[in-house]
Amino acid sequence: MAELVAPPFKNWRTTLERLEKFLSDSFFQKYNLTSQLQTELKTFQNIPCVKYQTGRPLFKDIDLKKFEEVDVKSTKFGPTWSTFWFKLEVDLPASTSKVNLAEFSTIGLVWKCDCEALIYDVNGVSLQSFSEERTFFPFEDPRFQGTLYVELACNGMFGAGEHCIQPTNLEKTFTVSEVKLVVRNDLAYSLYHKLNMIHDLAKEMGQNTVSGSNALYTANHVVNLLHKEGFSAQSLQDALSIVNKIFPPQTGTKHSDEHLTIDAFGHCHIDTAWLWPYDETKRKCARSWVNQIKLMKKNENFKFVCSQAQQFKWVETDYPKLFQTIQEFAKKGQFIPLGGCWVEMDGNLPSCVSFCQQFLYGQMYFKEKFGQFSDIFWLPDTFGYSALLPQIANLSGIKYFLTQKLSWNLVNTFPHNSFIWEGLDGSQLLTHFPPNDNYCARMNPSELLFAEKNFKDKGRSQDAMMLFGFGDGGGGPTEEMLVRVNALQTDHKVAVPSCVTTTPTQFFERLDKNRSSLCKWVGELYFELHQGTFTSQSEIKRLNNRMENLLRCAEFYVAVLRIISQRDSNSMPPELDIDKMRSALKSAWELVLCNQFHDVLPGSCIEEVARDAVDYFKRAENLIKFQFSSEVISCRVNLSQWSFDVQSVEPRRSDPLLDVVVPKVNLCLENEYLRAVFKPDGTLESLSACGTKQNLAAEGSPLNVFKIDSDMPLFWDAWDIMDYHSETGANISAVSHRIENGCFVFEFKISDNSKMSMKVSLPKCEPYLVFELCVDWQEAHKLLKVEFEFDLRAQHCSYGSQIGFVEQTNNMNTSQDTAKFEVCGHKWAAMQQYGYGCAVLTPAKYGFRALDSKLALSLLRAPKAPDDNCDMGNHSIKYALMPYVGTFQTADVQKCANDFNLNTDDFVVSIPKLSPQMTEVTSEGALIKVLSKAIRIESFQCAYEMPNAYVLKLSEQFGSSAQCNVALSSLLGMKKYALCDILERPLSEFADISERGVIINVKPFKLICILLIA
Ligand SMILES: [Zn+2]
Repeated sequence: MAELVAPPFKNWRTTLERLEKFLSDSFFQKYNLTSQLQTELKTFQNIPCVKYQTGRPLFKDIDLKKFEEVDVKSTKFGPTWSTFWFKLEVDLPASTSKVNLAEFSTIGLVWKCDCEALIYDVNGVSLQSFSEERTFFPFEDPRFQGTLYVELACNGMFGAGEHCIQPTNLEKTFTVSEVKLVVRNDLAYSLYHKLNMIHDLAKEMGQNTVSGSNALYTANHVVNLLHKEGFSAQSLQDALSIVNKIFPPQTGTKHSDEHLTIDAFGHCHIDTAWLWPYDETKRKCARSWVNQIKLMKKNENFKFVCSQAQQFKWVETDYPKLFQTIQEFAKKGQFIPLGGCWVEMDGNLPSCVSFCQQFLYGQMYFKEKFGQFSDIFWLPDTFGYSALLPQIANLSGIKYFLTQKLSWNLVNTFPHNSFIWEGLDGSQLLTHFPPNDNYCARMNPSELLFAEKNFKDKGRSQDAMMLFGFGDGGGGPTEEMLVRVNALQTDHKVAVPSCVTTTPTQFFERLDKNRSSLCKWVGELYFELHQGTFTSQSEIKRLNNRMENLLRCAEFYVAVLRIISQRDSNSMPPELDIDKMRSALKSAWELVLCNQFHDVLPGSCIEEVARDAVDYFKRAENLIKFQFSSEVISCRVNLSQWSFDVQSVEPRRSDPLLDVVVPKVNLCLENEYLRAVFKPDGTLESLSACGTKQNLAAEGSPLNVFKIDSDMPLFWDAWDIMDYHSETGANISAVSHRIENGCFVFEFKISDNSKMSMKVSLPKCEPYLVFELCVDWQEAHKLLKVEFEFDLRAQHCSYGSQIGFVEQTNNMNTSQDTAKFEVCGHKWAAMQQYGYGCAVLTPAKYGFRALDSKLALSLLRAPKAPDDNCDMGNHSIKYALMPYVGTFQTADVQKCANDFNLNTDDFVVSIPKLSPQMTEVTSEGALIKVLSKAIRIESFQCAYEMPNAYVLKLSEQFGSSAQCNVALSSLLGMKKYALCDILERPLSEFADISERGVIINVKPFKLICILLIA
């Protein structure tokens, strides 16, 4: 073998491009190394096939008699979302014997298509997927003969839009360009991938580095050798030996103090729904995960991490054999389920109870199916992270957090990769953002070099994580990526970080040892992009909020029914099946939790998904409409901020005028709390809380001004509202007004296509003015918002959070302030100066912006991608204005926001009449009551597993240290209590419940979970 020398013409560019062409599959491919990769044995032309236009039948459901031969190359497969099943008879031709099968070769099937496919054995066991990136299926037995089936899904990895995030083209067709049996030359294959790594390394490091030059000249030497020797088996062996000097074949880890150590894990981010519907995701999971099992069988070192309990449950239901194999590989520690949540949910919009249920349902599933809870919260791809999340995660047995989305920030670079994230209440998560800024690395050396360069905590830590594999649409790691990972794990000779394969927990434990040198970030992880997701797909957000309310109500109602029925079982009708009700409740939660996925609830999905989501919400609601055939009494469940009860319903009063203030003076409304004067254009010229003479509207600057902005973001249409939109706002004024049933009604013309009516009423006994909008919305790239420019001097604005509130500045002092031009608020926002202020209450609108003394609420958007029908049609929108004296805490703004969010008519339930105790319950006052205004009752529900146990969740809302006294009606019969976590594990000794109830000291913004034993 010739000695390695640098070429005499040290022209970097020609040497580098020569190597490129030597590896190219589009130039000289018949003569370069790619020509050596495979030898064809047999091509399939006509293959028996059956089409399913709709539905997605599983293997067991396909009709084996209906197969008819098609010429695969000339057939267009479609339309979008249809499915084709193929039957392949594999019979190796006689010529195969000529090929050396014994050494350095692999026989397999090549299937090239521009959509997604999954291959099955004759018994319907899934084996591996095909896609544009994965075309070779190696046979485990080189002499394999028999029948195989292929399921072809008519969609690409990213759905079926014309490109990227465009809406689905429902008429799209796909092609299968090649189906053949081949023998792969494993020497050439291995050499090809290592040379590609060398090319990548040389290109990245350049000629001025020793590593870069050595790598390129080594590769050049190999090219010379192979051209001279004509790709003989011996020359391929020799070439590989040369390359192995750079990337040795044996495993063995290199540790260097000069470089990062990178823990590389296979991963496959599968969006639970996005540019494809839920039902396609079920198949994407199977396709992606079966590939990983195949890779694990060949590579014991390969570890694959995977989140989202919902996806596991789908695979468990539809692909039981695959699921069983996954469980086996999970036991071996190769398939690593983690994340702790039901789905990778949106990080801003779900309520406190929803976040708790995400973790409870996720963790319980992982424990049941894989034997343990996850200690890592895994949410790489959502659009911002509520400051409540560290607390919820901690209370769910989680210490560590992985994400990376903030690397997409449009304005400011987030300053850390490894840090302590501290939430609103002081809870902490040790957090890591992989420094290659994504979750789908290909494991090229250049990515490791970038990761090291980009790592922002150098000097504090030397550890980073890298997740590799095709993601978003699924796919996961490929065999080629594993070749690279294995090469990078060796004691290699290049100046790039070394890879190690540990486990994510081991990675974090190593990081934890360095905890004291890491920096801390306090408060939410605000994402400086995608602020449109607080508003897009308005109906999904409305229904999510509605279901969150209905499920809290149903949990309480079912818990009370269980308590009474267990105590009074003799007089209960046999049809009252509490277990059945609980299981319906669980199914309803699963549907709602699924819809909170980070492309569904934020509204960044295609129209089909938006339809699916509405259907899931409807199914969830139907599941918890409990009916009884025996005699029932109608009751209303009251979930106020400070008390829960069930009351029998009196016949509804039919006169709406009884509840509202009837206007006497023209365009003026007044009750004991506030006074408001409107102008004919629908704006408020005066608003003041009784008790102050202060008009919240400045002279000449009315409140409640509707604006329409041009809303054309840079790229991510449904996702983004941009800072520049407010530069184009135009006012919309009412064209007429009238009084109707005690309300002012204003009519607006938004454009030639869209109109709106606004009904304003003042409840007799409430301190807020109610606005109900009916909007017929037919716009393109417009944003409708309502603005309130208060006559207040304030440095910041307060926004409702899932628990308590967050404060944000309302100026543009720093680039961080500027980037937060639109923020997320839950149920309310308030601006105040000493002595008084004003709050905006709203049930399911989340996008607020405050600048100086102006507060605006985003109402509707009209993005055209990925759903070109997004938010078109009729909308009912509700908000309220609440002027107050004092602070928002003392003025009970949070309580009012809670009440305003609940439509008590939705909470009318039926209760079997037979039990005398039932009558007592419905005539008792509060069944649960807290005696501190700072405490909110979040939920009361049956414990997930423990019989006779119940969980009461309370939260501190003011940011105060409070003594919380919980009074529990004796009708509930609770005897003992202990503090517990979200997974219902006791955190304290059980104590007796005294006559005074339960007394607990509560710190600011804490969630308190109490396990109660009946
Ligand atoms: Zn995603």
